Amino acid sequence: MEIQYLPVAASRLPSIDFQHLGFGEVFSDHMFLMEFEGGAWKSARIVPFGPIEMLPSACCLHYGQIVFEGIKAFRTASGSVQIFRPDKYHERFNRSCRRLCIPEIDFDTFLTALRELVAKDRDWVPRQKGYSLYIRPFVFASDSYIGVRVSKTYRFLIITSPVGAYYKEGFNPVSLITSTEYIRAAPGGLGMAKTPANYAASLLPAQEAIQKGFSQILWLDATERRYIEEVGTMNIFFCVAGRLLTPSLEGTILAGITRDSVIRIAKDWGIPLEERKISIEEILEASRKGSLQEVFGTGTAAVISPVGLIRHREESITINGGQTGPLAKKLYEEITGIQYGEKPDRFHWCVSVD
Ligand SMILES: *Cc1c(COP(=O)(O)O)cnc(C)c1O
Repeated sequence: MEIQYLPVAASRLPSIDFQHLGFGEVFSDHMFLMEFEGGAWKSARIVPFGPIEMLPSACCLHYGQIVFEGIKAFRTASGSVQIFRPDKYHERFNRSCRRLCIPEIDFDTFLTALRELVAKDRDWVPRQKGYSLYIRPFVFASDSYIGVRVSKTYRFLIITSPVGAYYKEGFNPVSLITSTEYIRAAPGGLGMAKTPANYAASLLPAQEAIQKGFSQILWLDATERRYIEEVGTMNIFFCVAGRLLTPSLEGTILAGITRDSVIRIAKDWGIPLEERKISIEEILEASRKGSLQEVFGTGTAAVISPVGLIRHREESITINGGQTGPLAKKLYEEITGIQYGEKPDRFHWCVSVD
């Protein structure tokens, strides 16, 4: 693939305070762009980050035919820059595209775009441990048409953002509340796709959770409001009596890459692991009996996010005294160790941009 390159006249890098990076507020100098027209992806280019022109009649603005991804690049101690599991993210990207009737992008094109863009902005990859370059590929339907149908044209972009910790709590436990009123995704719906509609549906419930003093919603299944699904930006794991449990992927849950990494590592460590339906009642019961040891969420942004408290209807449970548990800590250290090149990449997860 031929990528045109139009560099910025002057880098914004000197104006960025790398000591106080939040999440997703600052964007690197360049972005990648290409268009789908006449049945093919074309005009691949890396240009200065900035506004894009689009018509107000672009169909994505009206009907949400959009897919995105969230990937990270890390700087190792030796100064090299590597992307974590781009093949898995690409696989999921195309899976989401199929669900949204968006043309797929082949792995070669996807990876080349990622690597070239990150390589051009490699000075934007933070140097502090715990910090990284968040990569946001996304594709949207661009036909100028406000009837409902599958678009014939699309735009694919990648923007990148140097980030610190995702949660303001840092690596401290978050609190979750179930919703008896709202659902995130229904069977046959969009739950398995990384698409904005799922987030749009979650905003009001999340806002109400925050007003009640919780960090996020712990989603239950749409049919019975009984089985635990995920947290909306994270998948969820429970450590019960030495076993690791996580909800099985039934089409309503996003198949997290961090979830997959945790499963691979846990199996490698010989920790008994069960992917199956888990009811909220089972977890409350385990807590009452004292066998619920740890709960943590997994996601690219936060990696591992310990859960200290869960509320369901009238009942609240505190997990591990509201403290980060040893398994969450060990998994966090293992995954970030691999990402920052401090531990052997024994699963071949990291791809260098150089
Ligand atoms: C992205 C996402 C996750 C986490 O997936 P990772 O690949 O681990 O980042 C979990 N749930 C939802 C709804 C998501 O969009």
